[in-house]
Formats: sequence, C-alpha cells, structure tokens
Amino acid sequence: MVIIMQPDATEENIADVVKTIEGVGLEAKIMEGAQQKIVGVIGDKAKMASVAIGAMAGVESSVAISKSYKLASREFHPQSSIIDIDGVKIGGAEPVIMAGPCAVESREQILETAEFVKKSGAQFLRGGAYKPRTSPYSFQGLEVEGLKYLAEARERTGLKIITEVTTVEGIAPVAEYADVMQIGARNMQNFGLLKEVGRCGKPVMLKRGLSATIDEWLNAAEYIMNAGTTDVILCERGIRTYEVYTRNTLDLSAVAAVKHLSHLPIIVDPSHGTGRWRMIKPMALAAIAAGADGLMMEVHPNPAKAMSDGSQSLTEEHYFDLMESVRKLSKFMREENLNPIVH
Ligand code: PEP
Ligand code: MN
Repeated sequence: MVIIMQPDATEENIADVVKTIEGVGLEAKIMEGAQQKIVGVIGDKAKMASVAIGAMAGVESSVAISKSYKLASREFHPQSSIIDIDGVKIGGAEPVIMAGPCAVESREQILETAEFVKKSGAQFLRGGAYKPRTSPYSFQGLEVEGLKYLAEARERTGLKIITEVTTVEGIAPVAEYADVMQIGARNMQNFGLLKEVGRCGKPVMLKRGLSATIDEWLNAAEYIMNAGTTDVILCERGIRTYEVYTRNTLDLSAVAAVKHLSHLPIIVDPSHGTGRWRMIKPMALAAIAAGADGLMMEVHPNPAKAMSDGSQSLTEEHYFDLMESVRKLSKFMREENLNPIVH
C-alpha cells in the first residue's frame, strides 16, 4: 500500500502517519513524489484494516499495490530512481557505460583494458573474478587475486568496479573490492544469495535469468530490496528462445516493459544478449534508443586469445567506434528531448 499525502501536508502529519503504520507492526518508507510526499507501507496489508488511515490529517488517498513485488514497482515509487554511486548516476540523463573483459585473466590484461575503457569515457570497469561457467573444466576465475587487480585498475583510472558474486561466501570478499555487486543470470532466482547480497550494503546489479519472465525478474529484485538495499539496477542480457544463430535473444522490449512496471534503472548487455561481436553495436544503439539507462559490454585487448567469451568481445578499435556512435545518439536524444519512455 502507498499513502499519498496532500501537497500541503506538514512534517507532523507525515510523522503521525508513520507512527500509525509502525504502531500496527508495519514498516513505513517516506518517498518524494513529484508534488507531494508518499509513504510506502511494507508488510502484510491486512494489518492496516484496523486503522482509518484515509481519515488522518494530511492524507489525500491510499492505494493498494496490485503487484506481488512492491518496493520494485512504479506504483510504490512513481519517480524513476537514480542510483548514485559516488557521483556516477545510474538512471540519470546520460547512459552509464560498463565495459571490460568477460573474466579478469591477468594483471596486465585488466590494467591494459582499464586504460582503454577509461579513455573511451566509460564509468565502470567490468570483469569476472568468480566465473559461473557451463563446464567445470573451463576457467573459473582468479577469485581474490582477480579482485585485487580490479582494485588496482580502479586506483589507476578512477573507474568504478562491477564484478559478479556467485555464492554467499563470496559476498564479503567481493563487497570489499566492488562498487557494484553483480548477480548473474544463472543466480537470478538463487533466493538465499539475493537475500544476503541485499544485506551487504552495496548497490546490486541483477541480470535477468536465462528463462525468466519480467515478473519473475522484478520479484527477484524485490528479494534484494526487501533485504535492505534500495540500490538495485536491472540488466537485460538476453533470454533463451528457439533461435540458435545468436547465443540468446536480446529482449529490448523488456526495457519498455520495465520502465512501465518499475522505477529501477535498466542496463542492457548486448554482448551476452547476442554472443556475436558484430551485433553489439547495432543492439547497443537500439538499447539506448529504447530508453536503457546504460550498457554493459565485453571488450578485450585480444579477443582471439580471450579465456572466455572472445567471440562476443570487442577490440579496442571496434569499441571506440561504438562509443562514438553511442555518444552521438544519446546527445541527439537529449538535445531533441527524445524520450522513448511512455508512462
Ligand atoms: C557476465 O556478465 O559476466 C555473465 C556471466 O553474464 P550472464 O550472467 O548474463 O550470463
Ligand atoms: Mn561473459
């Protein structure tokens, strides 16, 4: 349930509403609406039956949230959320770019990649230190050693670090080095992991599961938010369909759906979404045109020698070309006031 306060409601009115909600054992969250404050009620709404909240001073109306996910829904939080990561705003006017290799392979590889990622104007360096691989015989990642190289790359370039956490035991070490914790597609419904990562105090980027519906994905985000963090970023990375030419089918319609259903920012990953480096640029541009808040892309100094996902990794040259086009497109969209989001 959300309680919409009158535009002239006083701080005291709001405090009374919060006290009443807490008095029946529920949690209240105050949010700034466009013109007025909104108080979100979290927990079993049956407990609200005993209070006449609509009759309280300063209350305009109350609305039940129809979705099974609440905190992640736009009904609960009508304004789009902007997640501020030490000055880098995800969900703001400019798309946020996250780029780097699939996996951290060596100190030299990640430092070299970080240099050209920084030069391109990106804000985040990506790179897996814990890799969820289909085969147990494939390279599994450098683990803590890889995290240390990522931290060194951050020190040298100022780029923020996003890296995947695959287990509950991995949360503490990853949280020590990462600016954003990434939950991969394979773990989207690992509810134990979602609850723990929601408690670690760091922003989380949740990738869409391989066969997850949008509703399941937003419910997964709800697990993280319900555990404590409000800073959740969604990432569309393609889903399984009958098509085998591409590794996955990049569902760009998910951007429009998520923007309608949720206030959370959404990033698109055209690398895992297609599995083919030639398709990254057209899909990246289409994602920006569709209203995505940013891109996550795999780049490698020498994709032919990459230990994982070389076929979907861009060379420095191709990546720079892509970034130039992304910059031009987003500048054009801003200058022309071209907002693809329809509320
Ligand atoms: C990744 O981004 O490193 C990754 C493994 O992607 P996904 O979880 O989308 O497969
Ligand atoms: Mn990869």
